[in-house]
Amino acid sequence: PETVLVAGGGQSGFQAAASLRDKGFTGRVVLVGDEPGVPYQRPPLSKAYLKGTAGDEQLRLRPEDYFAEKGIELVPGRVASVDRGASRVVLASGEELAYDHLVLATGARNRVLPVPGADLAGVLMLRTRDDADRLRESLDAASSVVVIGGGFIGLEFASHAGKPVTVVEAQDRLLARVASPEVSSFFLELHEKAGHTVLLGTGVTALHGEGRVSSVELADGTRLPADLVVVAVGVVPETTLASDAGLTVTNGVVVDEHLRTEDPKIFAIGDCANFPCVHAGAATRLESVQNAVDQARCVAAAITGNAAPYDSLPWFWTDQTGAKLQIVGILANADKTVVVGDRAEGKFSVLSFRDGVLITVESVNRPPDHIAARRLFTADLRPTYADLEASSFDLKAHVK
Ligand code: FAD
Repeated sequence: PETVLVAGGGQSGFQAAASLRDKGFTGRVVLVGDEPGVPYQRPPLSKAYLKGTAGDEQLRLRPEDYFAEKGIELVPGRVASVDRGASRVVLASGEELAYDHLVLATGARNRVLPVPGADLAGVLMLRTRDDADRLRESLDAASSVVVIGGGFIGLEFASHAGKPVTVVEAQDRLLARVASPEVSSFFLELHEKAGHTVLLGTGVTALHGEGRVSSVELADGTRLPADLVVVAVGVVPETTLASDAGLTVTNGVVVDEHLRTEDPKIFAIGDCANFPCVHAGAATRLESVQNAVDQARCVAAAITGNAAPYDSLPWFWTDQTGAKLQIVGILANADKTVVVGDRAEGKFSVLSFRDGVLITVESVNRPPDHIAARRLFTADLRPTYADLEASSFDLKAHVK
């Protein structure tokens, strides 16, 4: 029987293993992961788990017995190298495992802040359950918390930290990489109303302290007192295995529309993969549960003889300051936006257009718009500005 070896036991690696069984794969499925315990999901780490309203049970993707029941072999450890010639991997322990198909699902690691003092005690990041545990422990005693980075993770941390924090963001708006200016300004207001201080257009040049961080130095020389600093300035894809094995890496492991590398036995999925995205019209690397899960399913289908190009619709969500933001599509080069709903009430959607065609819908506390947009885009229905204007921008009216 064939062996599928999955390197990385996170969201996408787990899903690849599970989907192989769901699709009737009867060979060996080996999931090698270097984090302790059974595979778990990350979204609650910056939300309910951080707040303490969800525990370990809620993080787990499946209970422990599931893996034995499904014949998924969980191998704890780190894949140290791939020997493509011999179709096997070598673990850090020295153990060798042969494969017929190898799925790289190694995710991403946090970007380290390139300034002096970034390694002081009290400077933390958030990617793993261990990181979240450390943050939870430090939060109680912390009196001056500074968050560096106003993206999804930094803002979710701020909003679930349980105390006012200062957010320092180098760009001139929050969520600049993922959301429209309308959505950014709405969340700025919410965070300020919640008592947080947000400094936009502000770079950090150094962290100071004797062994432990005590202040954050900004580009203008100001020093913010800080006894806990959370660095949330994005991630870098974990691609070492692929590059050491001679595979092409450019902002992620480069794969084709079937998520295959140039080695037909090796796929890459999730945060570590750079794939031709039909919705972005360009090579893209996405960091989301949707992308991790759907890419895993696509590869499981390919391995079980039902290969189809990956074309799943990208969507994202975040929960912060009591508001739920849901995004459908990829916001790139929009040239027109329309706000529908009631911004003052905190229930609205931003519709963005490129060349007169709807490309993204960002919904704040308006799940029906999100659902309608997903149905439209999944069915490849792309209403134009004129179509939508005729229905007073009622997305549901265009779902067939
Ligand atoms: P990961 O889940 O990171 O899994 C990769 C695994 O591989 C890790 O366990 C890693 O340790 C392991 N690994 C790496 N190298 C090796 C090796 N050589 N050998 C063995 N194991 C290895 N997305 C959303 O859509 N919505 C959200 O609300 C949301 N919230 C998030 C909150 C936080 C705090 C974080 C960190 C992420 C959040 N995300 C969210 C993003 C989402 O969790 C990721 O996109 C998703 O986990 C990617 O899955 P992955 O399998 O590619 O990577």
